[in-house]
Amino acid sequence: MNIGILGAGQLAQMLALAGYPLGLRCTFLAPEADPCAAPLGQHLRAGYEDEAALASFAERIDVATTEFEHIAPVALDALEQRGLLAPCSEAILLSQERLQEKSLFTRLGLPTARYAAIDSETDLEQALAVTGVPAILKTRRMGYDGKGQASVAAASELLPAWEALGRVPCILEARVAFDREISVIAVRGRDGECRIWPLSENSHAGGILRVSLSLVDDPMEGPARDYCERLLKALDYVGVLALELFQCGDQLLVNEYAPRVHNSGHWTIEGAVTSQFENHLRAIAGLPLGSTAAVAPSVMVNVIGEWPAARKLLAVDGAHLHDYGKSPAPGRKLGHITLVDRDTEALQQRTAELTRLVAGATGV
Ligand code: AMP
Repeated sequence: MNIGILGAGQLAQMLALAGYPLGLRCTFLAPEADPCAAPLGQHLRAGYEDEAALASFAERIDVATTEFEHIAPVALDALEQRGLLAPCSEAILLSQERLQEKSLFTRLGLPTARYAAIDSETDLEQALAVTGVPAILKTRRMGYDGKGQASVAAASELLPAWEALGRVPCILEARVAFDREISVIAVRGRDGECRIWPLSENSHAGGILRVSLSLVDDPMEGPARDYCERLLKALDYVGVLALELFQCGDQLLVNEYAPRVHNSGHWTIEGAVTSQFENHLRAIAGLPLGSTAAVAPSVMVNVIGEWPAARKLLAVDGAHLHDYGKSPAPGRKLGHITLVDRDTEALQQRTAELTRLVAGATGV
């Protein structure tokens, strides 16, 4: 079977690596000259809106999927009309626009931070009345890794913040004083079967994910599963989806979803019976889903901007190194390292060692 992937970055790379032993081969459509997934399959170099390239891509593949959500509707339509796209375009398009995404959560009864839409200056006051301060102003489109966001500590900061974001359509959200940020990675097969992995607890710095821990048997798994199942069913979803949540006491608030494999699920490569990458491929290819059980507690540390010496990282007992082969640049995700261990004390010690090495290289 040939799997078509829109995008050829590290997520496409890890999908291709997971597919290879299953006999699945990948074709990537991406405009870059030398993207990091290219050595692992066929690379069709073209823009996502190039209809001739989309037609040629469609001819080579049995099923199509994406590694990122900000894909032009024309590409999604071209593949969906040919019956190739999974997950469906609705799931991808809704996640591109924060107001539509939040409205979907509200319709499904999933709790969120208080939010209000801002389209014009006249909306500012009313939005503040809904959220109060402190709040966070977010552009409705193209926000990722903390980009397109501004903090609003006092009412007087809202207008300057909206102007700084370019007076584009925004959403204002109450700032949640969360205890921790967690995510749940779920997969739904073509027959409607849903499975979730143990939750991930995530730490960010500068708006970018730094560390994820797997939370085996966490008490929040029940509600997180329920939210995921409602969302997957409503979207008639096929494939892997990540739902990002804030935990406040014993309540979970939904922040956003990603209609794809997710950075906070990378630990599943070594830390779960079946990885998020393999199960995404199984789901879209119509194969039986694999077990999502953890093999042991795991930690994943991202390498951002610059690499520490590989020999130092590999000297940490049990370190699994994933180098995506990208050239270093500030804020760029270059790779990750996973540790898996039943001995949680040893796991903590080795995580501290790894994070020291990574922070030493990147200055974070
Ligand atoms: P997002 O792009 O929505 O994932 O936001 C990026 C990060 O900003 C999140 O991972 C949180 O750390 C923080 N954040 C976003 N929305 C809120 C909120 N309503 N309250 C508190 N923190 C938030």
